[in-house]
Amino acid sequence: METQIELARQMVVTAEMEQVAIAENFPADVIRQAVADGHIVIPANPNRRQKAVGIGRGLRTKVNASIGTSSDISDIGLELAKARAAEEEGADTLMELSTGGDLDRVRREVLAGCSLPVGTVPLYQAFAETARRQRNPNLLDDEYLFEVIERQLSDGISFMAIHCGINRFSIERLRKQGFRYGGLVSKGGTFMVSWMEYNNRENPLYEQFDRVCALMKKYDAVLSLGNGIRAGAIHDSHDRAQMAEMIINCELAEIGRDMGCQTMVEGPGHVPLDEIEGNIMLEKRMSGGAPYYVLGPLPADSGAGYDHITAAIGAANSARHGADLICYITPAEHLALPNVDDVREGVRATRLAARIGDIAKYPDRRDHEKRVALARRDSDWQEHFSLLMFPEKALQIRRSRMPENEVTCTMCGDFCAMERGQALFKDDIAGDKVRRKAAACPATAAVQP
Ligand code: SF4
Repeated sequence: METQIELARQMVVTAEMEQVAIAENFPADVIRQAVADGHIVIPANPNRRQKAVGIGRGLRTKVNASIGTSSDISDIGLELAKARAAEEEGADTLMELSTGGDLDRVRREVLAGCSLPVGTVPLYQAFAETARRQRNPNLLDDEYLFEVIERQLSDGISFMAIHCGINRFSIERLRKQGFRYGGLVSKGGTFMVSWMEYNNRENPLYEQFDRVCALMKKYDAVLSLGNGIRAGAIHDSHDRAQMAEMIINCELAEIGRDMGCQTMVEGPGHVPLDEIEGNIMLEKRMSGGAPYYVLGPLPADSGAGYDHITAAIGAANSARHGADLICYITPAEHLALPNVDDVREGVRATRLAARIGDIAKYPDRRDHEKRVALARRDSDWQEHFSLLMFPEKALQIRRSRMPENEVTCTMCGDFCAMERGQALFKDDIAGDKVRRKAAACPATAAVQP
């Protein structure tokens, strides 16, 4: 089977490229060329029917929601409810990251219960099952790792975070710098570092990278080069260990792409706001423009309880500078396994962050905001709500505190600036230059909230 990138290089526009082109309002050949160049990926394992989602340069910044059981809380019904909530709230992709219970069953039920492209971190299953069977995850047989990767792919997994970029060199950097403030925070990364140290071996996913790519190609899945040494504290951001892994991941992204495998790069964890732009620039430059899948980033370490907001601030900045897919963070981050409400809040905050980032990233696509502003100016409440990202929440707040004069709201009541402005500029509004300009712009109607 040929992959999207191989077909794109043969000038073939696939059905998935067509769907992405329609959703993003681009000519199909523009999408095809970007896929051929490795600047856009489309996770669409043909073993499963799913929505075609494009991730990469020039496209709307996408939002990923992660769900999954843990060793403490393992409830398939809860994970299915979380998957459905993520999809209802508008997540673009889903990651199923279970480590507790019957892992094959959870994954298969989630795949059957949602229409989004689903990703995994296969190291979780390989190490968690080895730990359960042999009481020591370091006894993992590396052949089993490849077996789990293929099992998950054959079920219909469309993208995988695989920690190929951790190697002896990057671990050596950790040791030479005297470890770090925030330690290791990637579960898969820590499993792998521990296995390498225990067995005094090189990472098999790095050593046998061509085998990883061949498996991904067999199912046309996107290889997301996992960020196992990401910073878990802003003081570790861009330390030598993280940079070593980033350089290797960017190199592997290019090698994979040349082999005809769709690749993207993951990063960066906790990063202060002033370093986000540089981080994105480095990934784009070193990987030759591979899509960047960012975790947060979290620009502060002290926001637990509100880390969906901490991360949203980082996410808006990362999207603004070129991040392509943002993994949500929920209010439970650093504290507990998320519940359904946490998932909903996390997706909402991250979608808003992606929107804010896109408004800055694509200044020519701001017309939707213009329509919102005009509806607000004219106190057209119905139009206003129809254009909002979260109309139900907005309606619920308004209805809970209705004013006497329905044109206004209870914030300023009789002193409503909007109402006064309309009265003052009534004649100018009648000849409405501003509204005519907005209506004349074809992009206005095309952009959806
Ligand atoms: S009352 Fe104040 S907040 Fe409410 S619509 Fe008028 S100006 Fe805006």
